Amino acid sequence: MTKILAIANQKGGVGKTTTAVNLAAALAEQGQRVLLADLDPQGNATMGAGIEKRTALPTVYQILLNQVTLRDARMRSEPGHFDVIPANRELAGAEIDLVNLEQRDLRLKVALAQVADDYDFVLMDCPPTLNLLTVNAFAAAESVLIPMQCEYYALEGLTDLVATIKKVKQRLNPAIQIEGLLRVMFDPRSTLAQQVSDQLKRHFGDKVYDTVIPRNVRLAEAPSHGLPVLAYDHQCKGAKAYIELAKETLKRAGIAAREEK
Ligand code: ADP
Ligand code: MG
Repeated sequence: MTKILAIANQKGGVGKTTTAVNLAAALAEQGQRVLLADLDPQGNATMGAGIEKRTALPTVYQILLNQVTLRDARMRSEPGHFDVIPANRELAGAEIDLVNLEQRDLRLKVALAQVADDYDFVLMDCPPTLNLLTVNAFAAAESVLIPMQCEYYALEGLTDLVATIKKVKQRLNPAIQIEGLLRVMFDPRSTLAQQVSDQLKRHFGDKVYDTVIPRNVRLAEAPSHGLPVLAYDHQCKGAKAYIELAKETLKRAGIAAREEK
């Protein structure tokens, strides 16, 4: 069965896209068939996967408007070894274009159902808002992976996100769950980060991933080369952390990880 994960947090700059691209590449390295859907008009996941967003066409926008099938729109991330549904600025108009259409919340879910057999994992990189695109992702998702920085306001931001997930659960997708909370850009020397981390564990228990993503400059550099970090510097701390995250994700899904070579 395909596992469909939305990667979401309505705060910008918290590591959603970095997590989407690098978890996709790390799962692919574990032998998984992966589709990465870019749902942010900024198109950062598209670029980070090595696809030029300005010339990418069709995009997720045409899929949502039923102008093309997902099968015709997907592209290949050669350096990442996964498939991509690209996005670019055009998607910014989707909210308005979709609003009067039938089943506007379920368009992505319907599109993904056509290719479900082709993938073990579908990862959706959500925009930094709780808008119609995010609702489409939550309607299609089995679960939500929430990357977060362990800062003072982090828990407060989670309240809105959890409320949105609850609403979607009641209205559109009774099966949706929180997959896990991922601590990113983590600085173990920071007392505040430790305190917020402890608080997270108290509130969310084993929903908090054991894997922690450290702050690592290689993770920030890789997208400017159009590469997932695994292809950019496989030995760096950031790459190793995302490989760990892929293994933890497989373990939680009951799938055996690859033997180390
Ligand atoms: P979002 O998609 O939530 O807006 P991004 O993944 O684009 O967040 O990350 C925001 C910025 O932080 C980007 O410049 C990215 O390269 C950088 N970044 C993300 N994760 C890390 C990390 N673990 N270490 C260092 N820089 C990071
Ligand atoms: Mg992003």
